[in-house]
Amino acid sequence: RWAEGPEERRLLELFSYGLMALGAVSSLLLRFIPMPYGRYSSRRFGWLLPARPAWVVQELPSLLVPLGLAVCGGAVAAARPNRVLLGCFLLHYAHRALIFPLLIREGKPTPFFTFVLALLFCAFNGYLQGRSLTTYATYPAGWLGGSRFITGFLGWLIGMAINIHSDHILRNLRKPGETGYKIPRGGMFEYVSGANFFGEILEWFGFALACCTIESFAFALCTLFILSSRARQHHKWYLEKFEDYPKDRKIVIPFLY
Ligand code: NDP
Repeated sequence: RWAEGPEERRLLELFSYGLMALGAVSSLLLRFIPMPYGRYSSRRFGWLLPARPAWVVQELPSLLVPLGLAVCGGAVAAARPNRVLLGCFLLHYAHRALIFPLLIREGKPTPFFTFVLALLFCAFNGYLQGRSLTTYATYPAGWLGGSRFITGFLGWLIGMAINIHSDHILRNLRKPGETGYKIPRGGMFEYVSGANFFGEILEWFGFALACCTIESFAFALCTLFILSSRARQHHKWYLEKFEDYPKDRKIVIPFLY
């Protein structure tokens, strides 16, 4: 096993601050440029890749890197709380990389630039979360029965259910062969324009509470920055496009924002 020790521990901490900064800078940039994929896809950001294979390849590192680290891991990786927490992360990415792409209906192509950024992000974050949970995060006896784990785990589970259910609603707005957009209705879309993003944000904050590591908190914060920006763009787009768009719908956090 490679360079385990206080230097790498410090490096992971620095990477975590870097991830938080990346989220903050991205959210600033995304005030001026819409995130270039899906409805904002454009040739200006490189060759257009078909949506399905692009999603599989770009998300796969977040599944394979931590899986590899877990297989090669020692005593920390083998502890029960670590296996459960890593299992939550892997389950999300098994769905995102292997199931979600197969369900997409007539999704818009992904520009090469966006694809490369997503791929690098997934490799980096897969390493950060994987290495933290397989090498450095240690938990006291009874952690899995404690209030922080249980509350966080429920947040993760409910968030993932909202994310999957909302993506299911979006997918079913189109009949086979259609590529246009309709007003999403039902589920959390009654409260927010970015219901799928709300689910994902809740999921990673729940995960962060269950893990209590700086790495998982940095990932949750970065997700909040990036996905609330995308939700704001979608919200504005819907209001411009549909005169009858529900005016009381918030952007991404029910009743608040
Ligand atoms: P979008 O909501 O932009 O699109 C999701 C899918 O639904 C696309 O196939 C899209 O088609 C279709 N769709 C969206 N709105 C409508 C509509 N009004 N009418 C008809 N079809 C619609 O989500 P993203 O593609 O940005 O994200 C997909 C998933 O990935 C989400 O679950 C999200 O949480 C997750 N994600 C996570 C990130 C993270 O940082 N953790 C970052 C980015 C995404 P089309 O492609 O044609 O627009």
